[in-house]
Amino acid sequence: MPDIHILPPHLADMIAAGEVVERPASVVKELVENAFDAGAKTVTVEVRGGGMTYLRVTDDGCGMTPEDAGIAFLRHATSKLHDARGLEAIGTMGFRGEALAAISAVSRVELTTRARGAASGVRVVLEAGEIQSMYETGCPEGTTMIVRDLFYNTPARLKFMKSDRAEGGACVAAAFRCALGRPEVSVRCIRDGDEQFFSPGDSRIESCVYSLLGRDAAKTLRACSGEQDGVKVEGFISSPGYGRGNRAQQYFYCNGRAIRSAALQAALEQAYRNTLLTGRFPACVLYITLSNAAVDVNVHPAKTEVKFTQEKTVFDAVHYAARSALEHERETAEVVLSRSTQKVASAPAAYEPNAAAENARRTLKSTAAPAAPRAPEPVFVAPVVREAPRTPARPIPPRVTPAAPAAAPEPPAPVQTALEQFPEHESGAAPEAPARFVGEIMNTYILVEKGERLLLIDKHAAHERINFDRLQARSEPLMSQTLLTPIPFSPGGAAAEALRENKALIEEMGFSLDPLAGDSFLIRAVPTLLNDADAPSALEEIAESLRHGGKLDPRAMRDEVLKTVSCKAAIKAGWNTEPEELLKLADAVVSGKVKYCPHGRPVAVVLTRKELDKQFMRIV
Ligand code: ADP
Ligand code: MG
Repeated sequence: MPDIHILPPHLADMIAAGEVVERPASVVKELVENAFDAGAKTVTVEVRGGGMTYLRVTDDGCGMTPEDAGIAFLRHATSKLHDARGLEAIGTMGFRGEALAAISAVSRVELTTRARGAASGVRVVLEAGEIQSMYETGCPEGTTMIVRDLFYNTPARLKFMKSDRAEGGACVAAAFRCALGRPEVSVRCIRDGDEQFFSPGDSRIESCVYSLLGRDAAKTLRACSGEQDGVKVEGFISSPGYGRGNRAQQYFYCNGRAIRSAALQAALEQAYRNTLLTGRFPACVLYITLSNAAVDVNVHPAKTEVKFTQEKTVFDAVHYAARSALEHERETAEVVLSRSTQKVASAPAAYEPNAAAENARRTLKSTAAPAAPRAPEPVFVAPVVREAPRTPARPIPPRVTPAAPAAAPEPPAPVQTALEQFPEHESGAAPEAPARFVGEIMNTYILVEKGERLLLIDKHAAHERINFDRLQARSEPLMSQTLLTPIPFSPGGAAAEALRENKALIEEMGFSLDPLAGDSFLIRAVPTLLNDADAPSALEEIAESLRHGGKLDPRAMRDEVLKTVSCKAAIKAGWNTEPEELLKLADAVVSGKVKYCPHGRPVAVVLTRKELDKQFMRIV
């Protein structure tokens, strides 16, 4: 291999450019971040033809002097980092001085800039990183960067670009992600002449989230905040009833920088454990603020992955903030009936007094909370980029949530009493209207009137949740009952395998299985909570969740099994239920202790007076 030589600088720049500028969206991100670093209050991003033909970013930041504009495109030219000490605590988006060199190496760039207070501005025109012309010009204070014909001189890279639609969409998404991270900057994005989004830049995170995510998405979000050991978390997370089909709407920001982090994703998602439907993901916009020295942003070319020196602290801060937001959520989904039908309802059936009518006068009182279900400790997930040894697991004191009392084996069932006063809302605001138990309909739904709201409670779902919380709080095995006549049970081969593999867990739940020849078993004992007849179908369901729960940690696995047991042990829709029992269920829901069934379905919906009045056209 003869003749080693050093690559000419422009070739080296083109190679390095590949790291920073993968596609037009990376240019958008770098230019918008430069605008943020320049202290801009207003940034406009314009994209044409997928971003390959034309990209423009305009800001009203500090601008550049002609001297700076002349060297800004050189590799390692930066105003943001001066020495190695600076690298230990980076407070700006950029610091490597690479972006402008990389972008200009593979495109035609026009920079127009005027430093704050300067009499005039300067324009610099470059082609493939070489300055073609530079002259004084009149222009507003701030900077405008125009990037044309991206990758025109690197055909290999150009070949990898997707359609204009896809690349343009990615550009808008990149600008969006930046904008959502900076509520104090107003960002406007235009694509082929159409405005894609606009943020007001009034420094309020709620108006930033509202204007960018839109009204409908914002309505599904709840405020979330917390602080632990110098790590502040602020923002919004979705209600469990509004899980998304993927993680695209999980936005994490660390000191204003959009980051991806498997650990933070896990911290968030574990807070939703047993309240989200399977296959659904929470959405979030979370702003994490911590000292610049506690985070290393110099681990990834695009700086989207970061390394926290105290990873566990950040994980906990996010987890407990999310959990406390979810615990405080008391809102029940409101039903909006379809448009008033105008048709006169058909003659009502003969009035039948409801069996539970005697209870109609009773006022519900949610009693002092029985032992709260023990909140599971989150499983800390170390990120992929991490090189340092994992933080050894240690018990995590819950900070945000008050310490829950130790698990009570059998929490006392809520005692139903007939007190007048309904407990005050958490916020300590005016006392709420008392809740009145109205009765049950269709042997399925419990009706509770509370001021101007009618609660419809699914008795099965509510009971299932209560069972689940109670079982989850137990540490000892469930009570088991030996059957007088064992039940033969033959699930499929895969199911049988799953049951054999998880023998200990099955037994902890109170089942006892004797393996027979092939894939058959004899069920010798079942949890006392279950009817014998329900045992085979319960075991089938359990086997199913065990088979698909291969990736779950043991506690999540146990939860899956408990969900089946809780469901099977719960009263069913269509059953006759004693009014006393219904009252207990209603009480648990009204008090806010029970919100979602363990599978994530709501236990109650609300019909408001306003909605009814609309239906009857009392109001329009
Ligand atoms: P970095 O952001 O890592 O410093 P860049 O190549 O992105 O490197 O930018 C080089 C330098 O050019 C910056 O340090 C800054 O001084 C200047 N600069 C770039 N964009 C702007 C802008 N929009 N407004 C003012 N100065 C800018
Ligand atoms: Mg930069």
